[in-house]
Amino acid sequence: METTEFKELKKKLSSTKKNGFDRIDETELTELENYCEGYKDFLNTGKTERLCAAEAIRMAEAQGYQAFTRGMKLHAGDKVYHCNRGKSVLLAHIGEKSLAAGAQISAAHIDSPRLDLKPNPLYEDAEMAYLKTHYYGGIRKYQWVTIPLELRGVVALKDGSMVTVSIGAEENEPKLVITDLLPHLGAEQSKKALGEAIPGENLNLLLGSRPIGTEEDSGRVKLAVLKLLNEKYGITEDDFTSAELEAVPAAKACDIGLDRSMIGAYGHDDRVCAYAALKALLDLERTPVKTAVCVLADKEEIGSVGVTGMQSSAFDTFMEDLCEAQGVAVRECLEHSFCLSADVTAAYDPNFAEVYEKRNAALVNYGIGLCKYTGARGKSGASDADAETVAYIRKLFDEEEVVWQIAELGKVDAGGGGTVAAYMANRNITTLDAGVPVLSMHAPFEIVAKLDCYETYKGMKAVYQSKN
Ligand code: MN
Ligand code: MN
Repeated sequence: METTEFKELKKKLSSTKKNGFDRIDETELTELENYCEGYKDFLNTGKTERLCAAEAIRMAEAQGYQAFTRGMKLHAGDKVYHCNRGKSVLLAHIGEKSLAAGAQISAAHIDSPRLDLKPNPLYEDAEMAYLKTHYYGGIRKYQWVTIPLELRGVVALKDGSMVTVSIGAEENEPKLVITDLLPHLGAEQSKKALGEAIPGENLNLLLGSRPIGTEEDSGRVKLAVLKLLNEKYGITEDDFTSAELEAVPAAKACDIGLDRSMIGAYGHDDRVCAYAALKALLDLERTPVKTAVCVLADKEEIGSVGVTGMQSSAFDTFMEDLCEAQGVAVRECLEHSFCLSADVTAAYDPNFAEVYEKRNAALVNYGIGLCKYTGARGKSGASDADAETVAYIRKLFDEEEVVWQIAELGKVDAGGGGTVAAYMANRNITTLDAGVPVLSMHAPFEIVAKLDCYETYKGMKAVYQSKN
């Protein structure tokens, strides 16, 4: 075979996957930067699921979305949302076609791994005050010590009122921290397995050290912090019982790399897809053909459980309400719907090459990562989309010039993970996983590439606008 012939054949038959920077043009680079500035603001505002939900609603209302009320008549072009208990948001832009033709859904989650306060958190030891925590989601505990943390959340009082707590969010506010052992005394700890070096019961937040009262008194530091909490928030020790307070990293989102090509922040998983799903919906220039639905779910990190998680029928109720407004049976709508389960995937990290299978790993800057399946130990827990569904998205993304790649989380026997995909598929909705590749996923400071964030946004938009 001649060299030219070989080259032509290779071009014709081999994979065409390229780095995104070899595929996008200058104008897109500007849009990409603007998009990522908005995303960083979203991250800094939405450090908890409640804060994310509130910000999503604020953004939606600014674009003309109205709170949906049961019985409301819905027409093409109408924009409605429903907030589920302050922690999850469902939005819909009613399409030209009836809901009987199905909806184009994008489902992401807005909860992230963190340290929740226990119901009886406060204690004093060695004349220092601490708050006990119970971690939420899969964290590597050793990563959460000796970094500045802020405390965000709510206290629900018996009189029905809610107190919003925010400590450490502002630049000049004090932060909280979890201490670690000094290397000089860490010889035994260093011999332990990484997962055992910091036990869960050691994740205690340092809250204060300055006593009140006199030498004869006891619990002086604990009472001092209680006094400060009472002055600022009007709460007492027993009020922690009905509180949801979350210690989250205090660092703000920032650019990473000399070329500013990446973003470092807490909570990319899965706010990077949540923001893309939301922003794409809000940016739709005209009425979509089919109804576009954006789901911002809670509780994914602990199995999509609870009334605000994706397994809750809150989603079905919302869809049924929409369908009822058009006199459509919800089952008919769901069986014709498509859902992009928008969640992050692992980006290939050359520092830890041994856990990835490079041919099937998501690469940074190669665009939104499609996952036919997730799961662990032989796809367990995955939704495993069919070939037809992957072909549908492949065609759609190519037509809309979305930079995409297909990937697995890691080596077959290395581990795995799940998403909301399985729960959407259970509802008889054709579902495919897709999302932004992340480095250091679930760490207090995760990394994503700006290009991948932007391509994910483009992908969501393509799904909402799809005619079929
Ligand atoms: Mn996730
Ligand atoms: Mn996760």
